[in-house]
Amino acid sequence: MSALAKTHLEPALSVSNLTTVFQTAAGAVTAVDSVSFDVMPGQVLGLVGESGSGKSVTLRSLMRLVHAPGKVSGRVLWQGRDLLSLSPGALRKVRGGEIAMIFQEPTTALNPVLPVRIQIEENLRAHTALNGRERRARAIELLELVGIPAAERRLDDYPHQFSGGMKQRVMIAIALASDPKLLLADEPTTALDVTIQDQILKLILDLRDEFAMSVVFVTHDLGVVAGTCDRMAVMYAGRIVETGSVRQVFAEPHHPYTRGLLGSVPRGGAERTMLTSIDGTPPSLSAIPPGCAFNPRCDFATERCRAERPALEPFAAGRTVACFHHARVAATGAPA
Ligand code: ADP
Ligand code: MG
Repeated sequence: MSALAKTHLEPALSVSNLTTVFQTAAGAVTAVDSVSFDVMPGQVLGLVGESGSGKSVTLRSLMRLVHAPGKVSGRVLWQGRDLLSLSPGALRKVRGGEIAMIFQEPTTALNPVLPVRIQIEENLRAHTALNGRERRARAIELLELVGIPAAERRLDDYPHQFSGGMKQRVMIAIALASDPKLLLADEPTTALDVTIQDQILKLILDLRDEFAMSVVFVTHDLGVVAGTCDRMAVMYAGRIVETGSVRQVFAEPHHPYTRGLLGSVPRGGAERTMLTSIDGTPPSLSAIPPGCAFNPRCDFATERCRAERPALEPFAAGRTVACFHHARVAATGAPA
């Protein structure tokens, strides 16, 4: 499905000013700071950034999986309703139903003491009107869909009887049992070897095509973004610092941080390269520098960047950036 042909539609998900504050021994820390983004129907948005930049907390916050004393504010519009103010009952229907989640570590999402059939059927019971026989048939179908060989024979196996890659597939099958309209995927392939990763990414894209599902894909692997996502949002220290289509951002990054990240990706290549090429480390949330949080690591920083925090602002169709010097950054050319 072409993302372009869909741009006249309303967003499936519209997040505005999502902010998450945790109380820690070092005081209140803002792990997610005024994050806003839209995801169109059938679109795959990549959320990228170094470890600790707030990607997982963003996903957990919008599904209200952050617990007190963590505090989430902002607005998360899903089909006209704000998930942040939905009643617990209505939220339960949405979560794991219209919106499904898959995580990096399948073992935390699977119940070790229940056969996978029960876990898939529980989700089908909660979110569909299928009867018992239909649920069993659908469970087999789902395991086949995610590429589990001899699916019918494996129905009554327990999670530990599956290999890592197969467990990940089982988790995806459970997530998809409800025919979700939105899939939130938090580094779902990071722990897997490259061949299995590719198979699972392809599977997610096939399902996106088949069910017109939207996807928010959290990853720190730019090769995965290049091969999988339509749009991307780059996070740094809890904020989005740049957005655009994957093609635009790869061709012409406007934020020095994005430019640094892309410096580690071979030109034109979709090779798997981790984000380790930028000098320095991200700031601790309890000691975010004044002005632009990236300024201590930035070759372009000026006095203004140390005093004033740049807002995320549009600068071209479909593009936003939070940098006073973005035109100069872009003019400096794509990273070598
Ligand atoms: P990412 O997924 O980008 O690697 P996370 O979203 O997991 O990063 O974390 C962002 C920041 O929020 C980290 O500094 C992390 O330590 C902090 N954080 C996450 N959960 C909590 C919590 N429950 N209490 C305090 N700080 C937290
Ligand atoms: Mg994470």
